Amino acid sequence: MRILVTGGAGFIGSHLCDYFIARGDEVIAIDNFITGSPDNIAHLQNHPRFHFIRQDVTEHLRVEGYLDAVLHFASPASPKSYITYPIQTLKVGALGTHKACGLARAKGARFLLASTSEVYGDPLVHPQKEDYWGNVNPIGPRGVYDEAKRFAEAMTLAYHRAHNVETRIVRIFNTYGPRNQLDDGRVVPNFIGQALRGEPLTIHGDGSQTRSFTYVSDEVEGIARLLASDERMPVNIGNPNEMTIKTFAEKINELTGNKAGVIHLPRPVDDPNVRCPDITKARAILGWEPKIGLDEGMTKTIAYFAQKMKHK
Ligand code: UDP
Repeated sequence: MRILVTGGAGFIGSHLCDYFIARGDEVIAIDNFITGSPDNIAHLQNHPRFHFIRQDVTEHLRVEGYLDAVLHFASPASPKSYITYPIQTLKVGALGTHKACGLARAKGARFLLASTSEVYGDPLVHPQKEDYWGNVNPIGPRGVYDEAKRFAEAMTLAYHRAHNVETRIVRIFNTYGPRNQLDDGRVVPNFIGQALRGEPLTIHGDGSQTRSFTYVSDEVEGIARLLASDERMPVNIGNPNEMTIKTFAEKINELTGNKAGVIHLPRPVDDPNVRCPDITKARAILGWEPKIGLDEGMTKTIAYFAQKMKHK
């Protein structure tokens, strides 16, 4: 296949590029590096089936030749980065999704949108199933991401309904692994970075809020299966192993041997209290469920960050 990945130099985007290259596909990645990094794709630069275009995907996309699939993964995605780039986040979810859908339509390609568990906001239904409409504050600091992705889902289905584009929507839950940015503010890189420096881990609030963590290879496998499937409605791809942030902090201190403990900081505005995917649909229609457990995935990720920090 000939596949275009917007946000191809990002965390999940670059792992998708690797996945498709390994499978024998030709890959065109687009990124403007506002949160992605050239380091994430440096190893692919000279590959004969890999091409890179440095561009903002909110501008008209011009691509030579045919395309089988367009995967729209460009967007700031950590709370710190979308609060730093609020207008770019709204633009890439709205204008960027429009351009990416338009390109898929022009090429007769399949379109897959990277959506998010944030469309459920601070959920009142738990765990979250795909038919839950969510509880989102449109005007809070996280609204720029949540509403951009909700708009992007609406745009994607409009392209299907109005133009018959073959569309797929993945709702991605917290994902971690190598190429997470150490400084993007997410809980996994924050805690691992702090633990490796022998500092106390910064728990927001009392740490009773919950999340679950999906290792990146599991996430990418789920996305590839969704792309190949016939399912047009959104599908949750995430790990249902829910835990409190307090328990997660204890786990990181245990795995790293960090003796500095934890400290408590104020909770960010609109920080969801609970989050956990119901993956009944992914299991049923994709035969997918996560394979990498927390200890295995975190051990690999800790080793990656330890290596990165040595070379800084
Ligand atoms: N969090 C924390 N300490 C940190 C960073 C994050 O306690 O240093 C909490 C954050 O408030 C949230 C959870 O960890 O409750 C996950 O945050 P993250 O930024 O990874 O992304 P989110 O899941 O909120 O999109």
